[in-house]
Amino acid sequence: MHDPTSLFPSAYLERRAAYREFMERHVLPAERLLDREDDSALELIAGLQEKARATGLWAPHLPPEAGGTGDGFLYYACLNEEIGRSHWAQLVFGCQAPDAGNAEILHQFGTAEQKQRFLEPLVAGRARSFFSMTEPEVAGSDPTLLRTRAVVEGEQWVIDGHKWFSSGAEGADFGVVFVISDPDEMPHRRGTMILVPADAAGVTVERPTVVMGHGGRAWNTHCEVRYQGVRVPVGNTLGGRGEAFLLAQKRLGPGRIHHVMRWLGQMQRAFDLMCSYALEREAFGGPLAEKQTVQNWIADSAAGIQACRLLTIDAAGKIDQGSEARVEVSLLKFYAARVLNDVIDRAIQTHGARGLTDATPLAQMAVHARAGRIYDGPDEVHRMVVARRILKSYAAGERWQFE
Ligand SMILES: Cc1cc2nc3c(=O)[nH]c(=O)nc-3n(C[C@H](O)[C@H](O)[C@H](O)COP(=O)(O)OP(=O)(O)OC[C@H]3O[C@@H](n4cnc5c(N)ncnc54)[C@H](O)[C@@H]3O)c2cc1C
Repeated sequence: MHDPTSLFPSAYLERRAAYREFMERHVLPAERLLDREDDSALELIAGLQEKARATGLWAPHLPPEAGGTGDGFLYYACLNEEIGRSHWAQLVFGCQAPDAGNAEILHQFGTAEQKQRFLEPLVAGRARSFFSMTEPEVAGSDPTLLRTRAVVEGEQWVIDGHKWFSSGAEGADFGVVFVISDPDEMPHRRGTMILVPADAAGVTVERPTVVMGHGGRAWNTHCEVRYQGVRVPVGNTLGGRGEAFLLAQKRLGPGRIHHVMRWLGQMQRAFDLMCSYALEREAFGGPLAEKQTVQNWIADSAAGIQACRLLTIDAAGKIDQGSEARVEVSLLKFYAARVLNDVIDRAIQTHGARGLTDATPLAQMAVHARAGRIYDGPDEVHRMVVARRILKSYAAGERWQFE
């Protein structure tokens, strides 16, 4: 029976309850150990992944025909209100970025051979991947500027270039590399995506870039990668030659909404901490909860979180209906990134100095949240996309129809 007061079907809520139980029992208590990122943390992750598989909670972002347990975007949005609470949970449930996005484009555009070689081990959790697009030398916001080149020699691509922020490249098995293959074509026909095994000669994963003080390890890294005369078969082309921009759009749209879904879990967690602490901590004759400023933070956060949930549900539902929901996803991305940062910041402020320590997860959450305003397109670019699309309607003599 569908509960009319709920935004999600009751079957989804039941599944979410199973994730909640798993999170409470296994993931949240393990967070401190996992944060150490040492060998025992890696072992712990492997054990938790095994448990998640055994419990039927593995790969909820993909449909069963792609090896997952998913049922579309709305379903995944519902589950992520739990999964998103912990940075590590996406890895535990086998739906971590960037593998989730790579798996989706492999599922949609991969050949039978590519699916067997790259997608199957990826979804099964036997392999990890990275997405290698951004370059230090040019503005990542404008991929028409990319310089990494690939030329065909015989039956092979030969790739030369320099990328950075290839998340998870340390210890990964392969990358999806965005190259310029046809520089004389129209700007959006110049790029191709190529599947590159990480152990191919000429691929060097140089070092994890230190991001806000954190270098990380394995999946939790953002690496600089050099490609020097790297040769891979032409059969490793993902989609068609010249279709990288098209694929990037297909890959990054879902990837962006996946991020926002997880942020909903982060927002909820920060909100829970803020409200509990406001009731508990006393100053100037009463609990912080009685100070109007703190009440304003709580009210503004509640409004922002619910607005983000509704925008997510709207965009997820439209994607499930076959729409790309480009305006919806872009406005959600920049709006939710702002709300996420605001909610976490208010929660930290409510906690005073404690908020900056490791007594709560808030400080770490703030670091991850800050990057959310930049990765998968900075706020300013998404605002530009939204405004341009809306203005196009008006320029054509129509109006923007909110639906
Ligand atoms: C944690 C993290 C993980 C990442 N993971 C990956 C990954 O796995 N693979 C990958 O390829 N990349 C990844 N990236 C890179 C990310 O996608 C780029 O940083 C992003 O696209 C912006 O590119 P840029 O850093 O070169 O900034 P630039 O394009 O140089 O932009 C700099 C600033 O200029 C401003 N700006 C740009 N365009 C406009 C505009 N039109 N109007 C107004 N202002 C504008 C914005 O404020 C922007 O922040 C990651 C980044 C981070 C922080």
